[in-house]
Amino acid sequence: PVVTRFAPSPTGYLHIGGARTALFNWLYARGRGGKFLLRIEDTDRARSTPEATEAILQGLRWLGLDWDGEPVSQFAGVARHAEVARAMLENGTAYKCFSTAEEIEAFREKAKAEGRSTLFLSPWRDADPASLPDGPHAIRLKAPRDGETVVRDAVQGDVTFGNAQLDDMVLLRSDGTPTYMLAVVVDDHDMGVTHVIRGDDHLTNAARQIQIYQAMGWDIPVFAHIPLIHGPDGKKLSKRHGAVGLHEYAAMGYPAAAMRNYLARLGWSHGDDELFDDAQARAWFDLDGIGKAPARLDFKKLEHVSGWHIARMGDAELLEEIARFRAATGAPPLSGRQIARLLPALEALKAKAKTLPALLDQAHFALIDRPVAVEEKAAAALDTVSRGILTELTAAVQNASWDRNELEAAAKRIGESHGLGLGKVAAPLRAALAGRSSTPSVFDMMLALGRDETVARLQDQAG
Ligand code: GLU
Repeated sequence: PVVTRFAPSPTGYLHIGGARTALFNWLYARGRGGKFLLRIEDTDRARSTPEATEAILQGLRWLGLDWDGEPVSQFAGVARHAEVARAMLENGTAYKCFSTAEEIEAFREKAKAEGRSTLFLSPWRDADPASLPDGPHAIRLKAPRDGETVVRDAVQGDVTFGNAQLDDMVLLRSDGTPTYMLAVVVDDHDMGVTHVIRGDDHLTNAARQIQIYQAMGWDIPVFAHIPLIHGPDGKKLSKRHGAVGLHEYAAMGYPAAAMRNYLARLGWSHGDDELFDDAQARAWFDLDGIGKAPARLDFKKLEHVSGWHIARMGDAELLEEIARFRAATGAPPLSGRQIARLLPALEALKAKAKTLPALLDQAHFALIDRPVAVEEKAAAALDTVSRGILTELTAAVQNASWDRNELEAAAKRIGESHGLGLGKVAAPLRAALAGRSSTPSVFDMMLALGRDETVARLQDQAG
């Protein structure tokens, strides 16, 4: 069975690169009936904070990536990591190194001066275990000196590292704490991880980690190192390109389903398919579809994907997304009355909106109460003639059957009797119904508001 994991370091918020890594792991596991695990790499005690862990969990929840079991704390496994280092001493694949930091530094200086490799070669590697001193020591891997270590990567292909370039890495520091490299391997092994999908900034680490797997005789997981995300200009993504935190996208009003679709396409493809739902993504996702070249962030594309998802969302899901969007921006939840007015308008609104705030902006007429505050620009449409027209419309609307064609016919007829086209009638209508000059179709607004509210708003402005 497939077991994947997401292993963030809790030092900030959930970056969209991290969110994409999590998504790939989630899709891969969920599409195969496997497990998706979460490990918080909190061994860097100075930089790891509970707030950052919470922010990451919240980001994953927002994105809809559910994980199996409890999140694992890497720091909690320190004793287990040390135990494995000692097991490696026992089986002869690691050794105690008593060299001090000063000695190591002196070694490097000398090597540099003599034009040799500065890779540290510990004098303790081949010391007789029976005659070791007491005192502080690190445990180092007795790494192979000759040959090569090959990372058979599902994305990058076979990547070969000469063993002469890889030093005897420290597994356990002299203060007894495990190194990151040891901790990752032990945890992945103990968690039964079968596939490691992560950023290609970890590719060199994979070679070192493979040496630890080999030393312990453990199965090596499938590695898939994915290219990092680049900005629209092709440079490594950074804040100057715009939003890099997943929470920023939530606050901009992209629904989670759209972010899943968009992030899935950042670096992975399935033919020409750009727009898809979760079920399709789960069925289609595989490691073969991950590209070797860095994907570029493309805000236009994101808008397009977002609009597609909003348009096909059911009302309940859309209302849920709106609630989450408002929470993300600190806006109060919509009231029951606002939701009741919004519901009949949703069908028309969602066909046009690319983001949730764009939808809510068009929904303004449904969210406000009487008396409708009329913006200056809209107020210009409320001259004497227009107010007279509103009076006639009020009467017509009171009697018309509540149907788009009838309402439109009435508006046309009244306009014509004044020698005015529908556009000229619509302007004061917009002002009366929404207080704005840019709104959805006036008939959509009337139908959503219902007869009583429509009549009341018209009467408020009629001459
Ligand atoms: N904690 C590492 C990071 O945040 C990930 C390590 C891994 O996936 O193996 O970059």
